[in-house]
Amino acid sequence: MRSPSSRHIRRRAVLRQSDAIIAGLEARLEAQTALIREQAASLAHSQKIFDRSSAAARIGVWQCNLADQALHWTDVVYDLFDLPRGAPLVREDIVKCYTEASAIELHAKRSKGIAERTGFGLDAEIVTAKGNRRWIRITASVECEDGVAVRIFGMKQDITEEKILADQTRYLAEYDVMTGLANRSRFQTKLAELTADADDRPPLGALLLVDLDGFKQINDTFGHVAGDECLKEVARRLQNACAGVELVSRIGGDEFAVLVGPELDLAAISELARQIIDRLGRPVDHGGRALKLGASIGIAIHEVCSPSDLLVRADTALYAAKSAGRNTFRIFKPTEAIGVRNPRAA
Ligand code: GH3
Ligand code: MG
Repeated sequence: MRSPSSRHIRRRAVLRQSDAIIAGLEARLEAQTALIREQAASLAHSQKIFDRSSAAARIGVWQCNLADQALHWTDVVYDLFDLPRGAPLVREDIVKCYTEASAIELHAKRSKGIAERTGFGLDAEIVTAKGNRRWIRITASVECEDGVAVRIFGMKQDITEEKILADQTRYLAEYDVMTGLANRSRFQTKLAELTADADDRPPLGALLLVDLDGFKQINDTFGHVAGDECLKEVARRLQNACAGVELVSRIGGDEFAVLVGPELDLAAISELARQIIDRLGRPVDHGGRALKLGASIGIAIHEVCSPSDLLVRADTALYAAKSAGRNTFRIFKPTEAIGVRNPRAA
């Protein structure tokens, strides 16, 4: 047998080497493929978690290319607007879903955010394609390329429930649940506002304190439920008599406060007081019975003084009206003694 030539031996050695390299490359390819598979699985898992969290929190992601205004939304944003997922989006039509006030605010904040290349945040009210009213919280960031704003993107979250809860909480803090009028706290805030120096709104004209006459007797004779019905009716009548005033409020058991603007002169304020006394003096029907009511009013014309001084003045005038036999009104005169017998002053 002929022994292999040295050329042949070299060739076999090269082939063996190539096989080893190929085997090595195949092993590395397999490892890379496994890694990619693992990363794809991890990405899919992260995507699933993101989608689930985003759906649970009702938060979606949106993006708008500034060159052509093309919109891109994730599913949750489609759901927020009650639009079929993946439907073509025309920004002009989407903006029409915003209420007028929200559309104006959106336009202003968006333009400013783009001009300053920053972003913005906004709580906006929309009416969806199916007619549902929703509140959405929008956050937006502006993306720039070479110093030019090219894209705007961010999140949209459904905050309708949060908004309703906040409105209810504010209502309970500022309004009297039984009559629906502003409560004492709201009255005090408004009084402070209207008596503070400000150029951008008219100051206060006068404060009228209205207290029912002999109201305890209604409770004692007909019961608390009848008393409550009277208070509700009084609130309705007071509001009707005081159309256009700054505020009508219930500040105590049977005590109400009316804040009027500077457009009413002394004669008009006196006429308003007479109207209130006339309307509140009409009997209230309760299960076929006519309950007799009456009211006295103390008035303080606003001059430069603190809110608490104004309240004391109106209360002094109210006391004078009660002393004069009730069912009448008195206007505080600066010569009157303040706070001598003044149990209602806050
Ligand atoms: P005056 O003519 O001096 O004003 O006396 P009045 O009988 O009207 O009694 P006053 O104003 O001193 O006190 C108000 C009364 O209103 C005391 C309380 O029994 C009653 N009251 C206070 N809050 C409520 C309420 O929420 N419901 C009912 N039914 N009564 C109330
Ligand atoms: Mg009373």
